[in-house]
Amino acid sequence: MKVAVLKETRLGERRVALVPMGVKSLLKAGLDVTVQAGAGLAASISDQEYEEAGATVAATAADALRDAGMVLSVNAPSLEDVAGMSEGTILVSFLTPLTHTELVRALAEAKITGIAMELVPRITRAQSMDALSSQATVAGYKAVLLAADHLPKFLPMLTTAAGTIRPAKALILGAGVAGLQAIATARRLGAVVLAFDVRPAVKEQVESLGASFLEADAEVAAEGEGEGGYAKELSADQHEKELTLLAGAIADCDIVITTAQIPGRTAPLLVTEEMVESMRPGSVIVDLASESGGNCALTKSGATVLAHGVQILGPVNLAAGIPVHASQMYSKNIVTLISEFIGEEGRVELDMENDVVGPSTVTHDGQVTNERVQNALSAS
Ligand code: NAD
Repeated sequence: MKVAVLKETRLGERRVALVPMGVKSLLKAGLDVTVQAGAGLAASISDQEYEEAGATVAATAADALRDAGMVLSVNAPSLEDVAGMSEGTILVSFLTPLTHTELVRALAEAKITGIAMELVPRITRAQSMDALSSQATVAGYKAVLLAADHLPKFLPMLTTAAGTIRPAKALILGAGVAGLQAIATARRLGAVVLAFDVRPAVKEQVESLGASFLEADAEVAAEGEGEGGYAKELSADQHEKELTLLAGAIADCDIVITTAQIPGRTAPLLVTEEMVESMRPGSVIVDLASESGGNCALTKSGATVLAHGVQILGPVNLAAGIPVHASQMYSKNIVTLISEFIGEEGRVELDMENDVVGPSTVTHDGQVTNERVQNALSAS
């Protein structure tokens, strides 16, 4: 079966869905791979490297898609590309299916099996297929580099002949995958790091990275722990207590990196304008939740705001900023996921009872198969 890898078209995207190492794995599994010309260039991979790994290079997306049984991409393909796919094609990509309803309808109508990388269940067995985690790791790292670049100070303590420099202080809000990587990166750069999360279970992980955990009221801690390791929304009363806790810590911080998210909800507000005003001029906030509403009241998604002398960055798609390793990790995730439904000699054996493939599949055989996506479609 022919597997097509598309060149990404999203503005600012530099990742590619499959790297040459992934091509070799798919060939070994009995599949053929065709890569659209230039697909890997922004991730420093030439067409020649793909050819050397055993792939065929096609001049255009339409050429790559012709007769393909499977299509791989990072961002959801355009409706035009979907129109170029044949009935029964399997599309594996981030699809944002809960909001991208037009695409879901188009996939169902064209009888394309859509497998959404963001719906891979976060169970232990599927960790190596979890692209949300791999890309959040990249974003957490990059967020600290951005903050360091915008801060008019050093991060580490320096003892020099020209005097002693005190280390910068960083506060990381939300200690999930991105937050933990941000903590580790800020520590490596020598900052003093504080962190907070509503899930008290992460205290130990935060401390093992050399950061201090802000202790919340026991009630906030009891309320924040949701299902499956995720957070749940706090009541207005507990949220108020959290804001009081953060207001007490933020004024003394040079860097604040916010990563707090609640699955399926607008991101919680954690940094108010008064808190921004309380910070020293020159301080930097990087809001990783900017695409889902933002954790800071002043964040503008995709822009940098200067308010009260503080720079507030609302970056989008940070993972695209480290395209080589982000692509390598995504490619590994996708190859492992594909191996769940490729049998002997590259035969497709899609089993909706499979505990990873079933929940990740959005459309199959002309139907929308995922319940949450069905609900989102009826509501739209
Ligand atoms: P996420 O992006 O949904 O949220 C980021 C963090 O924000 C979470 O740690 C959450 O607790 C925190 N948060 C939410 N509301 C907050 C608030 N009001 N104040 C402060 N913090 C708040 O989460 P994520 O990084 O995708 O993952 C969260 C957890 O899911 C992980 O830490 C882990 O336990 C679990 N997980 C499991 C697997 C697996 O087993 N395969 C993979 C990934 C994640």
